[in-house]
Amino acid sequence: MKLIDAHVHLSDAEYAGHIDELIADARAAGIVALVTNSLDLKTCKSDLKLAKKYADLVYPALGIHPWNVKVLKENELEQTIDLIQKQKNAVKAIGEIGLDYKYETLWEKQMTVFDKMLRLAESLDLPVIIHSRGTTDKIVEMLPSYSLKRVLLHWFSHSISTLYKAMDNGYFITEGPPATYSNFIREIIEKVPLTHFLTETDGPVTYRKRPYNGQLTKPSFIHNVVEAVAEIKKMQADDVAQQIAENFEVFFNVKLS
Ligand SMILES: [Zn+2]
Repeated sequence: MKLIDAHVHLSDAEYAGHIDELIADARAAGIVALVTNSLDLKTCKSDLKLAKKYADLVYPALGIHPWNVKVLKENELEQTIDLIQKQKNAVKAIGEIGLDYKYETLWEKQMTVFDKMLRLAESLDLPVIIHSRGTTDKIVEMLPSYSLKRVLLHWFSHSISTLYKAMDNGYFITEGPPATYSNFIREIIEKVPLTHFLTETDGPVTYRKRPYNGQLTKPSFIHNVVEAVAEIKKMQADDVAQQIAENFEVFFNVKLS
């Protein structure tokens, strides 16, 4: 079974010192692709290095996360854009980018950074990976004014009517470990066409419920997610994994070996 973790943060401080172990765990679990999402200039650089080191497994999505907007250093936005432009052949997506209602006080700055990231994706013809906590409706409404190749709404957790709007636009979504225990997430998985779905861990986010029990999130958790999706969709896990691997190739324009 070929498994995909389409959204993880390998450069996060919580994973420091554990990368070799994580990569070994991923390979042993049948993971064939890890999309590492950056948060700022520093993690963009580090994610590029990891993608080079584990070239057959790790794919970089580079960008500035809305949570990092408030701590952006002078010229960091410009430097990040410059780095991504220079490394455009290595970059597989612009992510993680978006808007977060929790930082509403920085709304204007969040909008400026998000707009610049979307314009960059347009100009480099790259897909985007979007964080939309509390802002999914707004984002689904604003994205059609950009000319974007492909859009992924990560950890989709909004209404089913918004999910349908996103599907009408041809967007993809990801879901992760909560697929095993959250009825809300399970309902979204039931409704989403499998052709527009990818699996993620969003590691190092910690999942306290069973069967994860608060342990450090590992790519091998994807196996539980695929099993849960197969149960919800009343399909064989092998067939679910096969479709997700195909979706990965389509979304990121990558050929899996
Ligand atoms: Zn994330």
